[in-house]
Amino acid sequence: MAHPPLTTCGPTKAEVDLTAFRDNVKAFKNIAVDSDSRLMAVIKTNAYGHGVVPIGHAAIEAGADRLGVTTVEEGALLRENGIDVPIHILSTIMPAQATDAVTYDLTVSVSSSELAEAIHAAAVSQEKTAPVHLKLDTGLHRFGIAPEYAREFCRSCYHLSGLFWEGIYTHFSSADEGLWETTEKQFSLFMDTVLDLNECGYNFPIRHAGASTIAIERRDMHLDMIRTGVALFGYPPEVRQQGMVPLKPVMALKSRILHVRTLPPNSSVGYGGNYVTSGYEKLAIVPVGHGDGYKRALSNKGEVLVRGKRAAIAGEISLDQMIINVTHISDVQEEDEVVLIGCQGGDTISAREIAEKVDSIVDEVLASLMERVNRVYK
Ligand SMILES: *Cc1c(COP(=O)(O)O)cnc(C)c1O
Repeated sequence: MAHPPLTTCGPTKAEVDLTAFRDNVKAFKNIAVDSDSRLMAVIKTNAYGHGVVPIGHAAIEAGADRLGVTTVEEGALLRENGIDVPIHILSTIMPAQATDAVTYDLTVSVSSSELAEAIHAAAVSQEKTAPVHLKLDTGLHRFGIAPEYAREFCRSCYHLSGLFWEGIYTHFSSADEGLWETTEKQFSLFMDTVLDLNECGYNFPIRHAGASTIAIERRDMHLDMIRTGVALFGYPPEVRQQGMVPLKPVMALKSRILHVRTLPPNSSVGYGGNYVTSGYEKLAIVPVGHGDGYKRALSNKGEVLVRGKRAAIAGEISLDQMIINVTHISDVQEEDEVVLIGCQGGDTISAREIAEKVDSIVDEVLASLMERVNRVYK
């Protein structure tokens, strides 16, 4: 028997501010235009947790020239939802996925002759020419052709008729960390290799190297395209970059208090009982846990906002719930709004604050947010 649709939403939601997102994209589009460069909006990992389809559309509306993801599945999903700008797969794929990548007109990163040949074969059988970008490894040592083998690689694969070598790129290992000497060495190695290939007749119209950090701090390395990811969601990768480009956080994570109770002194709270009340304490249950992607490491450490005031997490965060101490907040009631990331009253809890508390980075805090958290787009 078919059920009628649900008539209510649960208390937990991630609000995604598409206006803020588009403003962030426009800020980077202006930077790209200033350096005579293109803008790729990197929206991998479900758009760093924000939802890849609505974010993909918003990125293009705001001026992004291309999109970047890391899986064929995400690229195909964007195509199925009507996106027709170039979509890059920034990771490598298995040769067995070449046919799907060509079917969906995805721009694959190539760093092996097996993959080049598989894409060539798929393109020939679909009567297409597949755009591909050669990935050079200049020191991240994740994947990519080593510069000393670049000529040899091109000798064996550049002529394949199913391929259009539209671009060549690298990805820096230590730009976020501000290790400029290392980054400049990688950049020179990249440029020298590209020049050497050009001299051998191997041309690549779009050269690119920089992600958010380079887009913000090093206009001299923008080349023909910048690939901005996390910064589009309102957070520059590093604290030193705050204010260099005006950015607005895009996501707020909110829930509601489901239950309030007062416990006497010396009551243990939560799994393992490692939080013990020191006096009479008023505690509230919030239905958000590490099963939502809210880090368990925030147990006994994190804070949330209730009625504009900070409330500390008491005890271990479980899969679906956490307990917060609201003793100092008067009039707390069931169904009161709880802000886990975002603003309330005059205070703000940023994804960066959370990242710093658990020794992580903003990318992880945002991208960890699970599918089950309802995304609400404004
Ligand atoms: C993730 C990624 C980016 C974007 O990085 P941000 O630091 O989030 O801007 C750019 N290029 C490649 C190859 C990536 O994997």
